[in-house]
Amino acid sequence: MTEQATGVSHGGSSPARRDGSAPTKVGIMGGTFDPVHHGHLVAASEVAHLFGLDEVVFVPTGQPWQKDLDKVTPSEDRYLMTVIATAENPQFRVDRIEIDRSGPTYTLDTLRQMRATYGPEVDLYFITGADALGAILSWHNVDELFDLAHFVGCNRPGHHLSDTGLPEGKVSLVEVPALAISSSECRERVRKGEPIWYLVPDGIVRYINKTGLYLES
Ligand code: ATP
Ligand code: MG
Repeated sequence: MTEQATGVSHGGSSPARRDGSAPTKVGIMGGTFDPVHHGHLVAASEVAHLFGLDEVVFVPTGQPWQKDLDKVTPSEDRYLMTVIATAENPQFRVDRIEIDRSGPTYTLDTLRQMRATYGPEVDLYFITGADALGAILSWHNVDELFDLAHFVGCNRPGHHLSDTGLPEGKVSLVEVPALAISSSECRERVRKGEPIWYLVPDGIVRYINKTGLYLES
């Protein structure tokens, strides 16, 4: 099967779409996805709609430098769950770019690599929730990040982001249907034996049941 047919890219040349054309507007949805949930999927879908994106690439982190390594689920499990959750949407695909890169994951490296893969003509949109965008704004290399991609900050219940102090023209704040779901809460619910049906796609519930993920923490 080709990369396009599987919806899974292993990096390398610029990905073509099913009709053979190259995408011109590409969303990048980075996350730990531990596990991926409907809040992630709704944000990606809504931003794709609002900005007329050709595709959204989900990029599960390798070793997130902000999170305690011992507490993050192995990257292959997070990657597989992201593939399962996005498999039915032809606009969504998953990239292993961060999983396969050794060392801690930095968004700057990812955006540089994506820019090199897609070339200068493609518009890249980096999609984040309000909490993640707030954190990114405090990074020291933020100017280069904003040159590599347009940033889209989505509202997220419990996290407020105002547009004061945002660099002009580099960041858009958008309203997406609000879903008060977090991966931490999903993990906690599994640990306590509470259901996560309808918070995450059905395939993710089954994957978690099958593997026994999140039973202990
Ligand atoms: P955790 O609780 O483990 O931090 P999370 O639910 O925040 O997990 P992440 O993988 O950390 O999920 O988030 C990936 C991206 O998705 C981030 O930009 C985050 O802000 C965004 N995001 C997560 N949940 C939502 C949500 N419910 N609505 C909108 N954006 C979200
Ligand atoms: Mg988070």
